[in-house]
Amino acid sequence: MSAETPPAASNAAPGAGQRLDAAQLAEAFEMFARASEELSTAYNALQGQVAQLTERLAVLLGALPAGVVMLDRAGRVGQCNSAAESLLGGDLAGRPWDELAATLNATETPGEATVGADAGARRVSLSEAALESGEGRIILLHDVTDTHRMRLQAERNERLAAMGEMVAGLAHQLRTPLAAALLYTGNLKQPELAPADRARVADRAIERLRYLERLIRDMLLFARGDSLGRQRFGICELAGELVHTLEPLARARQVGFSSACDCGDATLLGDRKALGGAITNLLENAIQATEAGGAVDLSATREGDTVLFRIRDNGRGIEPAHQARLFDPFFTTRADGTGLGLAIARGVARAHGGDIAVESSPGKGALFILSLPLPCPDEGGAALAPKESA
Ligand code: ADP
Repeated sequence: MSAETPPAASNAAPGAGQRLDAAQLAEAFEMFARASEELSTAYNALQGQVAQLTERLAVLLGALPAGVVMLDRAGRVGQCNSAAESLLGGDLAGRPWDELAATLNATETPGEATVGADAGARRVSLSEAALESGEGRIILLHDVTDTHRMRLQAERNERLAAMGEMVAGLAHQLRTPLAAALLYTGNLKQPELAPADRARVADRAIERLRYLERLIRDMLLFARGDSLGRQRFGICELAGELVHTLEPLARARQVGFSSACDCGDATLLGDRKALGGAITNLLENAIQATEAGGAVDLSATREGDTVLFRIRDNGRGIEPAHQARLFDPFFTTRADGTGLGLAIARGVARAHGGDIAVESSPGKGALFILSLPLPCPDEGGAALAPKESA
């Protein structure tokens, strides 16, 4: 036995001058073994939980009435449920979403598309959520065919009910100008009528008959409501065209007319003629409500995914009691008004998923705001964009 024992494991010392003896080492190993056993138990428990969650997710996805499509980072279908497969047809795994989106036909309602043809066609509403990890996206497809059918039916019923209400007022609406026209034309038969008076009476009769024609045209427009076309058109281009059309009327009434559009080359999808007609009506009303020397302004601005057409005048304004009735069919304060302009304009805005709001106080002018949702970005721009129907 040597008198001098060299320091144990001097080259493996954990710290300055420290040494581990066998007991400490054994204890450390034991701790390590315990920790790794705990870790492995926890890992197994986690594996069990993952398996359980995966099973629950699969059951949940299978039971969901909505279609769920999970896309990977490259935009290909990683997972989907049976509802999505039955809506989009067949095996979707691995297929690029762009290819599937191209089989959808856009509708007049943003975010809704039809899939399939004829009697088997379904209407779906699409929504998309990106995974927080950035690893992909989830597309949700709700079959809204029945809801849409019911919505159309409800709208039609509402219109029919409104028309029913109209009928009573209608007789009066038609009878008054008709009686006036009859009276004037009856006067024309009088032999003693001077040529100048005869011409004046004939003009009055014509004017009443034109009013009747306008009334009937507006009523047809109001009743038809649902036969809207669908085109893509530039917002600023439409605003510019309306300014061009309305400028002569404003000039004739000595009303200043200004306009601005900050929508660049953004486009709308819908019935250009009907929407142009709705804004024209708001502009005509504004010009008519404004005294000579007053001003009317049209602006089109983009706010998020909505475009706002603001029609502002500094005319006579609208009493609160009248504001509540503005959009009622036949409500008019003008002797030659049909009272259908705003009812039709609101109907057109709503049929495009938008609306019309009004702000006014008597003597302080009026502001009408027609809001419309912007369509989904162009095909290729966003994965959700279905192809446009012709
Ligand atoms: P009409 O123009 O045939 O009367 P509308 O439905 O277009 O029918 O308008 C209904 C009524 O709303 C008008 O008669 C008028 O009293 C009121 N109105 C609409 N726009 C304005 C406006 N800018 N300023 C004041 N009153 C307005």
